[in-house]
Amino acid sequence: MAHPLLAPGFTTRPWWWEAAEPPQRDASLPDHAPIAIVGGGYAGLSAALTLQRLGRQAVVLDAERIGWGASSRNGGMVSGGLKVAGTGLEKSFGKDQARAITGAAAASFPFIEETIAREGIDCDYVRCGRYAAAWSRGHYDAMARRAEGLAEITGLPVTMLPKERQREALGSDHYHGGMLVAATGSLHPGKYARGLAAAAERAGARLVDGVRVQGIREQGSGFRVATDKGELRADAVLVTTNGYSLDQRGTALPWLARRLVPLNSYIIATEELGEDVIERLFPGRRMVADSKRVLNYFRPSPDGKRVLWGGRASFRAATAEDTAPALHAYMTACFPELKDTRITHAWTGHVAFTFDHLPHIGVERGIHYAAGCQGSGVAMATWLGHNVALKLAGAANARFALDGLPFPTRPFYSGNPNWVLPFIGEWYKLRDRIDRLAA
Ligand SMILES: Cc1cc2nc3c(=O)[nH]c(=O)nc-3n(C[C@H](O)[C@H](O)[C@H](O)COP(=O)(O)OP(=O)(O)OC[C@H]3O[C@@H](n4cnc5c(N)ncnc54)[C@H](O)[C@@H]3O)c2cc1C
Repeated sequence: MAHPLLAPGFTTRPWWWEAAEPPQRDASLPDHAPIAIVGGGYAGLSAALTLQRLGRQAVVLDAERIGWGASSRNGGMVSGGLKVAGTGLEKSFGKDQARAITGAAAASFPFIEETIAREGIDCDYVRCGRYAAAWSRGHYDAMARRAEGLAEITGLPVTMLPKERQREALGSDHYHGGMLVAATGSLHPGKYARGLAAAAERAGARLVDGVRVQGIREQGSGFRVATDKGELRADAVLVTTNGYSLDQRGTALPWLARRLVPLNSYIIATEELGEDVIERLFPGRRMVADSKRVLNYFRPSPDGKRVLWGGRASFRAATAEDTAPALHAYMTACFPELKDTRITHAWTGHVAFTFDHLPHIGVERGIHYAAGCQGSGVAMATWLGHNVALKLAGAANARFALDGLPFPTRPFYSGNPNWVLPFIGEWYKLRDRIDRLAA
């Protein structure tokens, strides 16, 4: 019997796909591509767009459909590399390089805004700001210490909101206050993926569905790309497979997979709610993310009718349907008035973390790559794709600070973290409970 919280007609397709399901395209493989891009998400599409604008012909291959991966499943929260600023960079890289890396990451935010405007992408984009909700008093104090630096990095206001004023930003008393960050927008990820693909196609890129790359080897001055539909010759190759890099059916670049930790992130959509409810829960209609290690992120849908609630509901290989009740429980802990509100959609997708918590572009055995956005890649993947394209076309004016950094892996790590994730998940949940108790 279906779980009572699941509405009639419940589906595990992303809610975004109701308006913008990634369409089926041409599935025929060309013999040759001047530049072959493996992976048709934001990174691959943005790279293709920039390459075409620079007069370089790009062919994008996706094993599923263009935009099928994280790029049409995410929360649609657009932020400018702020996670990078909190990774203890100075200790690893020294002051100057740390500053360059932080600046390069933050530049992803104006870049995506500019891309959406320039290409006229209809994706419900709004610069709405974000409320970072503090899970404990200690987390609030840590945010307050970072606020000034974040304002400096983003060039936009960052304001602390103590618990007694929290209801100005969030219709809940669940958190210990939080931080309002102006440099955040919201969009419809499915429409953005579709619009970016259309922009790349208009500029002349060829987008090919249903071709899984199974290996890439150098030959002469170019490459032979082995796929499940035959072989393709390419003068240059870029791999942007991110959280989907490791697959039993064929992995494009195993070296990259060994440096990425794919994790499932899950989202539920509620049934439609009254406008008054959404106004009460999300005054200002900002994006919200909390500071828990087992993070929650949530928002009103772009049409202002539903709550979309996301999180890392499971560290096991669980289905979206299995995890939906847990996400619902997190949601009602924050918004008790939604306890009888049912779920119409629940879905999941893969994000990619890295061992140094940084996104990377670079070259391995002549093969370019862009990956590792730590679950925050709407702006960042778009930006990485653009930068790797500038480099491929020989058009970069200066070195990009996230290019060619040491890209760590771990001994015996193949790219599949599933055996260790449940232990990490339990440890994170315990730390969250301790932080809250210590508040
Ligand atoms: C549930 C969820 C919520 C998220 N929320 C947010 C958010 O609110 N804000 C934010 O900034 N980020 C968010 N993210 C992260 C963001 O979506 C990603 O960082 C971004 O979309 C990554 O884009 P990409 O192009 O690198 O990879 P993807 O969009 O994942 O594309 C990779 C593509 O590679 C293809 N592929 C893999 N292997 C092969 C192969 N061998 N041959 C051919 N093709 C292959 C796959 O089919 C896939 O389409 C979220 C992600 C998820 C899953």
